[in-house]
Amino acid sequence: MPMLDVKKIREDFPLLSREVYGKPLVYLDNAATSQKPQCVVQAIADGYTHLNANVHRGVHRISQEATEAYEEARRQVQHFLHAASEREIIFTRGTTESINLVAHSFGKAFLHDGDEIILSEMEHHANIVPWQLLQSYTDLKLHVIPIDDRGVLDMEAYRAAFNEKTRLVSLTHVSNVLGTVNPIREIIDIAHRHEVPVLLDGAQGVLHCAVDVQALDVDFYVFSAHKLYGPTGLGVLYGKERWLEAMPPYQGGGEMIGHVTFAKTTFNELPFKFEAGTPNYIGAIAFAKALAYVSDLGLENIAAHEQDLLQYTTRLLTEQVEGLRIFGNAPEKGAILSFLVRDIHPYDMGMLLDKLGFALRSGHHCAQPLMDRFNITGTLRASFALYNTREECEAFVAAVKRVAQMF
Ligand code: PLP
Repeated sequence: MPMLDVKKIREDFPLLSREVYGKPLVYLDNAATSQKPQCVVQAIADGYTHLNANVHRGVHRISQEATEAYEEARRQVQHFLHAASEREIIFTRGTTESINLVAHSFGKAFLHDGDEIILSEMEHHANIVPWQLLQSYTDLKLHVIPIDDRGVLDMEAYRAAFNEKTRLVSLTHVSNVLGTVNPIREIIDIAHRHEVPVLLDGAQGVLHCAVDVQALDVDFYVFSAHKLYGPTGLGVLYGKERWLEAMPPYQGGGEMIGHVTFAKTTFNELPFKFEAGTPNYIGAIAFAKALAYVSDLGLENIAAHEQDLLQYTTRLLTEQVEGLRIFGNAPEKGAILSFLVRDIHPYDMGMLLDKLGFALRSGHHCAQPLMDRFNITGTLRASFALYNTREECEAFVAAVKRVAQMF
């Protein structure tokens, strides 16, 4: 059974006691971004108040302290992912930048005309468009693995997708629309049998379970801090050292150099080779607090609590709302619930639910090919976090029922 003291946890998130339109806020848009515990907000304030000096540049005391704190944050991420070395942890702006980095840099080093990359129908645009951008200068084929009506990846099609031209598998760990948890261990094993590396988009997956990049033997794992109770504008690229060493820099500028002359520039070592310019060091320092926060609560406890809310809400909605269609019925799901009621437009329903205090997402969720797959333009999406309660779920289901009756 869930082991979280949610009432106490909610006190750590002041935003949750806000009202909207005179109604108590029920925040169910966690897959878009999660709220921040006060320790993270405080770390940002403390960082700018007491620790602000550019990292890796100054011999002066504050710069050294900031550098130490930033590098300690990197070690915390390394520990969180169980990576072999801190050299394998690159701080980026987010999942999107991490995938663009790999597309650009891995692409330069390893992709040639006629090569193929395996994606799936359930990818976020962040794991589609960077590869399409590459197509404008390399004649790449994107091999898209279909899903079934439950939102489960077609593993037969995946197995059959490999050929001598396949260079990379780039798949989501957990779908941000369907909640589907992909069988990543099997996905990686199959790819490695063909000597093909795997990138996992962990934007939703890193929340779902403890990720051990060494046990998984995954080649690249990417995620955003802001979905994991950390600040915006910060993300992580984990990459195996041997790949990162073989890949050229993504952006040029300060930090990433060894020595610069107008004739030639040498590059810094990992991970700095991929961190051009001033990094979001205050964000990283605050993110370390978010990691400590979730680790203290226990990732399994958080996941169990979220699963309870997902299953409870799914059951209540199914029992109580006529004309309900749920998108995403995979046997293993993250705490994401996408649905439509009859033919009511998700924006219309989303706007009315907002007026009642419920914040959830309506639209295509940056996954238009997936919407095409289901022949719809969008869904409503409720996504749960560690601070949500069963009472909120009950109120939400009642509100969906009430709003649906207005149409
Ligand atoms: N991939 C998935 C599966 C996502 O859910 C998201 C965000 O919703 C992204 C990528 C992009 O993340 P970000 O906008 O933080 O870069």
